[in-house]
Amino acid sequence: MFEGVNLPRPYAGNFFIRTERTTLAETTTYDLAIIGGGPAGYTCAIRAAQLGLKVALIEKTDKLGGTCLHVGCIPTKAMLFSAEIWDHIKHAESYGVDNVSAPKLNWQNVLKRKNDIIVKHTKGLEFLMKKNKVTVVSGYGRLAGPAKDGVFTLSVTAADGKATPLQAKKVVLATGSDARMLPGYQADDTILTNIEILSLPVMPKSLIVIGSGAVGVEFASVFSSFGAEVSIIEALPRIVPVEDEEISKELTRKYKKRGIDVNTGCKVDKIEKTKTGAKVTFTDASGKSVVKEAEKVLVAVGRGPRTTDVGLDKTNIQTDRGFIPVNEWMETSEPGVYAIGDIVAGLPQLAHVGAMAGVVVASKLAGQYARAVRKDRVPGCTYCDPQIGSVGLTEAKAKEAGYQVKVGKFPFAGNSKATILDAHDGFVKVISDAKYGEILGVHIIGPNATELIGECVTAIELEATVEEMMFTIHAHPTLYESLLDGFSAVEGMAINA
Ligand SMILES: Cc1cc2nc3c(=O)[nH]c(=O)nc-3n(C[C@H](O)[C@H](O)[C@H](O)COP(=O)(O)OP(=O)(O)OC[C@H]3O[C@@H](n4cnc5c(N)ncnc54)[C@H](O)[C@@H]3O)c2cc1C
Repeated sequence: MFEGVNLPRPYAGNFFIRTERTTLAETTTYDLAIIGGGPAGYTCAIRAAQLGLKVALIEKTDKLGGTCLHVGCIPTKAMLFSAEIWDHIKHAESYGVDNVSAPKLNWQNVLKRKNDIIVKHTKGLEFLMKKNKVTVVSGYGRLAGPAKDGVFTLSVTAADGKATPLQAKKVVLATGSDARMLPGYQADDTILTNIEILSLPVMPKSLIVIGSGAVGVEFASVFSSFGAEVSIIEALPRIVPVEDEEISKELTRKYKKRGIDVNTGCKVDKIEKTKTGAKVTFTDASGKSVVKEAEKVLVAVGRGPRTTDVGLDKTNIQTDRGFIPVNEWMETSEPGVYAIGDIVAGLPQLAHVGAMAGVVVASKLAGQYARAVRKDRVPGCTYCDPQIGSVGLTEAKAKEAGYQVKVGKFPFAGNSKATILDAHDGFVKVISDAKYGEILGVHIIGPNATELIGECVTAIELEATVEEMMFTIHAHPTLYESLLDGFSAVEGMAINA
């Protein structure tokens, strides 16, 4: 099907569309060449083209969209939506819907729906490239070295191995990341990364998830909803370790209630294949050796940058454990070369961070207004059940930073829309600076937390105070009213608790 193109595994399991690509005109000098057609690269390309730049977007696979569209954000959320529907159907009678007491899961259709969504959006991206007159170049891109007389030369190696030079005045690297594997293991049909688990031919009856960041807990949520026995093994003392401690505690409580076996402070010693799957031996928090068996093991222990073979060695760029350091405008130590997305040192590996970094670079290069990406204003969203949405400092980080912290907390149990949705677990937690009332962070676990966090990002971006938010009218009955109560709780004045 791939006609000799050496595609990486990410796309092996998905539907495939072939699009016409431009043959390189060697005489063209682009204003901007971008290596990598994921959310960072394609967003940068579109905005740069909108601002009048002549843009080439180089992508090594036959499809734009990167990890996010093909094996990341979009397929996981499609499956989480199917899981959510499935969970609602289990309680249909309590909502007044009878005769659905024996629902049957059609795993193939869960996968088909996910794949259809990917195909639709892949076509959408191709359309956007045409609409914005971005030249999409198929092939593997590498920098040939620093600019000469203000022009960079890149080499683009096509599927047939033929390398063609491409010239551009500025270069953006947006090559993304790959799932990390535990040392000594390789992904296969039992030990899985995010790629294989998205195309399992049969829904497994049991799953061990190693790692409990967003990727790990989201897959744990999906497979638990669909009826698999799920165990999580996490090395750190708590799951979702980047979140506020109280969020980790609440997710652990809810996951245990859902029957998910949560093991923290555990070090994986080995994974061995068995006739029916694999067994994982780990040392638990008390130093005891524990063995757990499952049909499948998902390794979700982080993602490493794809920066080894893009020509960095021919430039001034020194990586930090593979990640590329940049200044606030995403420029690397090689003048004229920018880096965005998952390869950037010190920024969260999130599609919206990469995309915004792309917008910043494009705007700067076009001489337009831009605001630098601020790490403390990045929403973090985890779409497990219950969902998590957070922005800004955790309580611990705010204290560490020297703030005199004032905290407000409001439980969804006091929110009428949460009652209507039958989703009372969780809370809103607001971290503020006692001195000026500045909102330093908001942490939400509960229904639609990934949508609710939007208001909080805007509040922090516009440097709103707790008082200003307390006088902002929130519609009733909504989930986001819980934010009004959360902000008011900072002053001990939540109405509904
Ligand atoms: C399971 C999972 C779920 C996720 N869910 C979310 C989520 O809900 N929200 C969120 O914000 N983030 C999520 N992420 C993270 C998100 O997918 C990444 O942050 C995002 O895809 C990074 O974008 P990028 O453009 O930097 O890289 P990528 O998306 O990895 O794209 C890089 C592109 O560059 C191409 N490429 C690489 N090297 C070359 C080369 N030398 N020449 C030409 N092309 C090249 C690749 O083929 C690829 O198309 C998730 C990740 C995973 C694994």
